[in-house]
Order: sequence, then C-alpha cells, then structure tokens
Amino acid sequence: MSIKQNLQNIKTSLPEHVTLVAVSKTKPISDLMEAYHAGQRIFGENKIQEMVDKHETMPKDIEWHMIGHVQSNKVKYMAPFVRLIHGVDNFKLLKEINKQALKHDRAIDCLLQIKIASEDSKFGMTPNEASKIIKSDVFSELKNIKVVGLMGMATFTNNDSQIEKEFNYLKDTFDSLKQTSTDNYQLNTISMGMSGDYQLAINCGSTMVRVGSSIFGSRNYN
Ligand SMILES: *Cc1c(COP(=O)(O)O)cnc(C)c1O
Repeated sequence: MSIKQNLQNIKTSLPEHVTLVAVSKTKPISDLMEAYHAGQRIFGENKIQEMVDKHETMPKDIEWHMIGHVQSNKVKYMAPFVRLIHGVDNFKLLKEINKQALKHDRAIDCLLQIKIASEDSKFGMTPNEASKIIKSDVFSELKNIKVVGLMGMATFTNNDSQIEKEFNYLKDTFDSLKQTSTDNYQLNTISMGMSGDYQLAINCGSTMVRVGSSIFGSRNYN
C-alpha cells in the first residue's frame, strides 16, 4: 500500500482526541512529502541533525517532534524550531533546553520520559524523580520550557499483557502527576504507542501515538 493509503487507514482508526506523529526517521524527503501531501503535518525524528536537515528543506508549516534520546550539547541546533521534545529524561537536559529556548525568545514544550519497560536499554526516569523535578524551586524558575506531558516506551515483546501493564503504569503516573499544575507544568499529553501497539496504548489512555513503519514501511539502517 502507498504511504497515503497507510496514513488514511491509521487516521480513520484513531479517536479524535489522539494525535498522530508520523515517525519519519531514516526515510527520504520524498516519502515525507508524500505524507505531507496527504495532509500530515506532524513528523517525528530521533536524530537532531537529520531533523534539522529535513526542517530546512521542507515546508514551514510542519511541526517537528524530537522523539529520540537527546544529548544536551545538541539541543541548540533544534531550539529555533522544534515543537515538542518527547524524551526528556533528566533535569540537566531540561535546564539546557530552557537555556537554548531563551536565546530564541520562545518556550519549548517537553514531555518527561518515564521508564516503563523492563529492558535496561530504554531511557527514562522514575515517577518519583519526575515528581521531585517539577516540585523543585529550580524548576519553577525555568520560564522557557513547558512540561506538557509524559512519554513512555513499552518493552519489545509479543506479550500483550506485559505491554498493557506498562502502559497502565504510565497512565497512573500521568493521573497522579496531573493533580498539580504551574506556569511551566501542565500535563495534557501521554505519548505512548508505536506501530505494533498503538491500539492497545489508546485503550490504556494514550493521547499521542508515534507511528513509523506502519506508515512508511520498514526501515533500512544500512
Ligand atoms: C522509531 C520510533 C517509533 C516508531 O516505531 P514504529 O515501530 O516504526 O512505529 C516510535 N517511537 C520512538 C521513540 C521511536 O524511536
């Protein structure tokens, strides 16, 4: 099936309150443009340089989401335009994003990544670490970031009940952290679910799904 058809099939299966991030990492601009012409405006990339290059050549009404692990020293390259950073997993990174956003006189929306998978390879903080950050005095001084939600990645497994447990854990964490809000902290987004598990994620309360291979086909890393 074509990218356009894949997109349409997925979009019709999504409830209205769920946002689709088209994960276009490793894919050529021609593929992204096919999705663009089919109406897609939100794209997710996991490498900053690749996202910068695509942003430069593509139409400017696209929202670029950084979904990968972010190194602090590279934040400056995306600070002028990135719309949402999904994988914020430490306080130092949040402070760096604030610093770079200030240089561009803007506020950057961020999601805190919570570790929900059992694998050591997945990044993220504990709910307790997230809670400590948002309650700290230092955090309240960060005027150029806004924490708008949480992100999580489930374990890579065929065991649906394990994935469901991990998604429910993220939803529970969201519900508990959502009880308070401040100027720079107001939770409204749960980013969870990829090609293999986005329907399950939505059933567990996801409001934003990150779908790559089901739209663009499988990736070739060679
Ligand atoms: C690659 C990636 C996705 C998309 O994965 P698919 O299985 O191709 O849908 C989603 N989230 C993150 C963080 C990714 O790195």
